[in-house]
Amino acid sequence: MKVIYPGTFDPVTNGHLDIISRASGLFEAVIVAILENPQKKQLFTPLERKQMIQESVGNLSNVKIETFNGLLVHFVRRKGCRLVLRGLRAITDYEYETQLALTNRKLAPEIETIFLPTSTEYSYLNSSVVKEVARFGGCIRGLVPPVVESNLQQKFRVQLSPEKP
Ligand code: ADP
Repeated sequence: MKVIYPGTFDPVTNGHLDIISRASGLFEAVIVAILENPQKKQLFTPLERKQMIQESVGNLSNVKIETFNGLLVHFVRRKGCRLVLRGLRAITDYEYETQLALTNRKLAPEIETIFLPTSTEYSYLNSSVVKEVARFGGCIRGLVPPVVESNLQQKFRVQLSPEKP
Protein backbone atom coordinates (compact mmCIF):
# COMPACT_ATOMS: atom_id res chain seq x y z
CA MET A 1 0.00 0.00 0.00
CA LYS A 2 1.11 3.54 -0.55
CA VAL A 3 0.84 6.25 2.05
CA ILE A 4 0.67 10.04 1.90
CA TYR A 5 2.64 12.02 4.46
CA PRO A 6 1.30 15.58 4.37
CA GLY A 7 2.65 18.68 6.07
CA THR A 8 4.01 22.17 5.72
CA PHE A 9 7.68 21.17 5.94
CA ASP A 10 8.84 24.78 6.29
CA PRO A 11 11.56 23.53 6.41
CA VAL A 12 11.99 19.76 6.69
CA THR A 13 13.69 18.68 9.94
CA ASN A 14 15.43 15.49 11.03
CA GLY A 15 12.18 14.61 12.85
CA HIS A 16 10.29 14.62 9.53
CA LEU A 17 13.10 12.66 7.86
CA ASP A 18 12.97 10.04 10.61
CA ILE A 19 9.26 9.51 9.90
CA ILE A 20 9.87 9.43 6.12
CA SER A 21 12.66 6.85 6.29
CA ARG A 22 10.74 4.60 8.68
CA ALA A 23 7.63 4.85 6.49
CA SER A 24 9.69 4.03 3.43
CA GLY A 25 10.56 0.69 5.04
CA LEU A 26 6.94 -0.04 5.92
CA PHE A 27 5.05 0.93 2.79
CA GLU A 28 5.36 0.22 -0.90
CA ALA A 29 5.51 3.92 -1.65
CA VAL A 30 5.51 7.16 0.34
CA ILE A 31 4.28 10.42 -1.13
CA VAL A 32 5.47 13.42 0.88
CA ALA A 33 2.79 16.04 0.21
CA ILE A 34 3.76 19.66 0.81
CA LEU A 35 0.81 21.95 1.48
CA GLU A 36 1.22 25.15 -0.50
CA ASN A 37 -1.33 27.19 1.52
CA PRO A 38 -0.86 30.66 0.00
CA GLN A 39 -2.86 32.21 2.91
CA LYS A 40 -0.13 31.37 5.39
CA LYS A 41 3.21 33.10 4.94
CA GLN A 42 5.97 30.51 4.86
CA LEU A 43 9.71 31.17 4.98
CA PHE A 44 10.44 28.89 2.01
CA THR A 45 8.49 28.61 -1.24
CA PRO A 46 6.85 25.26 -2.03
CA LEU A 47 9.56 24.62 -4.64
CA GLU A 48 12.37 25.36 -2.17
CA ARG A 49 10.73 23.07 0.42
CA LYS A 50 10.40 20.35 -2.19
CA GLN A 51 14.03 20.62 -3.30
CA MET A 52 15.30 20.42 0.28
CA ILE A 53 13.29 17.25 0.97
CA GLN A 54 14.34 15.77 -2.38
CA GLU A 55 17.99 16.32 -1.62
CA SER A 56 17.64 14.89 1.89
CA VAL A 57 15.85 11.66 0.94
CA GLY A 58 17.80 11.12 -2.27
CA ASN A 59 18.61 7.45 -1.60
CA LEU A 60 15.07 6.30 -0.76
CA SER A 61 13.74 5.17 -4.13
CA ASN A 62 10.12 4.63 -3.04
CA VAL A 63 9.69 8.20 -1.74
CA LYS A 64 8.15 10.86 -3.97
CA ILE A 65 7.69 14.52 -3.13
CA GLU A 66 4.76 16.55 -4.40
CA THR A 67 3.01 19.80 -3.58
CA PHE A 68 -0.73 20.30 -3.27
CA ASN A 69 -3.37 22.96 -2.69
CA GLY A 70 -6.81 22.70 -1.19
CA LEU A 71 -8.20 19.83 0.83
CA LEU A 72 -5.92 16.95 1.70
CA VAL A 73 -8.65 14.36 1.12
CA HIS A 74 -9.12 15.57 -2.45
CA PHE A 75 -5.39 15.19 -3.09
CA VAL A 76 -5.36 11.73 -1.49
CA ARG A 77 -8.26 10.63 -3.70
CA ARG A 78 -6.61 12.03 -6.82
CA LYS A 79 -3.56 9.92 -6.00
CA GLY A 80 -5.71 6.78 -5.66
CA CYS A 81 -4.49 6.39 -2.10
CA ARG A 82 -6.33 5.49 1.13
CA LEU A 83 -3.76 6.06 3.87
CA VAL A 84 -2.58 9.31 5.44
CA LEU A 85 0.44 9.24 7.73
CA ARG A 86 1.12 11.76 10.49
CA GLY A 87 3.89 11.93 13.06
CA LEU A 88 3.12 12.19 16.76
CA ARG A 89 5.66 13.90 18.98
CA ALA A 90 4.04 14.36 22.34
CA ILE A 91 0.64 14.15 23.92
CA THR A 92 0.18 17.79 22.90
CA ASP A 93 0.10 16.73 19.23
CA TYR A 94 -2.60 14.19 19.95
CA GLU A 95 -5.57 16.51 20.33
CA TYR A 96 -4.92 18.47 17.15
CA GLU A 97 -4.05 15.37 15.15
CA THR A 98 -7.22 13.53 16.24
CA GLN A 99 -9.33 16.53 15.32
CA LEU A 100 -7.73 16.60 11.89
CA ALA A 101 -8.05 12.84 11.40
CA LEU A 102 -11.72 12.81 12.42
CA THR A 103 -12.51 15.75 10.15
CA ASN A 104 -10.84 13.97 7.25
CA ARG A 105 -12.74 10.76 8.04
CA LYS A 106 -16.02 12.73 7.99
CA LEU A 107 -15.10 14.21 4.60
CA ALA A 108 -13.78 10.95 3.15
CA PRO A 109 -14.74 7.84 5.16
CA GLU A 110 -12.66 5.56 2.96
CA ILE A 111 -9.42 7.32 3.96
CA GLU A 112 -7.68 6.26 7.17
CA THR A 113 -5.12 8.28 9.13
CA ILE A 114 -2.33 6.40 10.84
CA PHE A 115 0.28 7.72 13.27
CA LEU A 116 3.93 6.97 13.80
CA PRO A 117 5.42 8.10 17.10
CA THR A 118 8.54 10.16 16.67
CA SER A 119 11.91 8.82 17.76
CA THR A 120 12.67 10.23 21.21
CA GLU A 121 15.65 12.31 20.11
CA TYR A 122 13.38 14.38 17.85
CA SER A 123 10.35 14.61 20.10
CA TYR A 124 10.97 18.28 20.96
CA LEU A 125 11.74 19.33 17.40
CA ASN A 126 9.59 21.38 15.09
CA SER A 127 10.17 23.68 12.12
CA SER A 128 9.24 26.86 14.01
CA VAL A 129 11.81 26.28 16.76
CA VAL A 130 14.50 25.56 14.17
CA LYS A 131 13.67 28.82 12.34
CA GLU A 132 13.80 30.84 15.57
CA VAL A 133 17.17 29.40 16.56
CA ALA A 134 18.59 29.97 13.07
CA ARG A 135 17.17 33.51 12.87
CA PHE A 136 19.24 34.56 15.86
CA GLY A 137 22.38 32.73 14.82
CA GLY A 138 22.07 29.64 17.03
CA CYS A 139 23.48 26.27 16.01
CA ILE A 140 20.99 23.98 14.29
CA ARG A 141 23.42 21.24 13.30
CA GLY A 142 21.94 17.80 13.95
CA LEU A 143 18.37 19.16 13.94
CA VAL A 144 18.05 19.54 10.18
CA PRO A 145 19.78 18.06 7.13
CA PRO A 146 22.86 19.97 5.83
CA VAL A 147 20.99 21.53 2.87
CA VAL A 148 18.43 23.05 5.25
CA GLU A 149 21.13 24.29 7.59
CA SER A 150 22.88 26.19 4.81
CA ASN A 151 19.64 27.48 3.26
CA LEU A 152 18.44 28.81 6.62
CA GLN A 153 21.76 30.51 7.27
CA GLN A 154 21.63 32.08 3.84
CA LYS A 155 18.00 33.25 4.23
CA PHE A 156 18.67 34.96 7.52
CA ARG A 157 21.99 36.44 6.38
CA VAL A 158 20.16 38.10 3.51
CA GLN A 159 17.39 39.35 5.82
CA LEU A 160 19.85 40.70 8.40
CA SER A 161 22.31 42.31 6.02
CA PRO A 162 21.88 46.08 5.68
CA GLU A 163 20.28 47.27 2.48
CA LYS A 164 22.65 48.41 -0.19
CA PRO A 165 22.30 52.09 -1.13
P1 ADP B 1 1.69 20.69 9.76
O1 ADP B 1 1.59 22.17 9.61
O2 ADP B 1 0.75 19.92 8.86
O3 ADP B 1 1.63 20.18 11.18
P2 ADP B 1 4.50 20.07 9.83
O4 ADP B 1 5.49 20.23 8.74
O5 ADP B 1 4.70 20.87 11.07
O6 ADP B 1 3.12 20.34 9.15
O7 ADP B 1 4.42 18.54 10.26
C1 ADP B 1 4.10 17.53 9.34
C2 ADP B 1 3.94 16.21 10.08
O8 ADP B 1 5.18 15.85 10.66
C3 ADP B 1 2.95 16.24 11.25
O9 ADP B 1 2.32 14.98 11.32
C4 ADP B 1 3.82 16.45 12.45
O10 ADP B 1 3.21 15.93 13.62
C5 ADP B 1 5.03 15.64 12.05
N1 ADP B 1 6.24 16.11 12.73
C6 ADP B 1 6.69 17.36 12.85
N2 ADP B 1 7.85 17.41 13.55
C7 ADP B 1 8.14 16.12 13.86
C8 ADP B 1 9.19 15.51 14.62
N3 ADP B 1 10.15 16.21 15.19
N4 ADP B 1 9.15 14.15 14.73
C9 ADP B 1 8.14 13.45 14.18
N5 ADP B 1 7.12 13.98 13.50
C10 ADP B 1 7.11 15.30 13.33
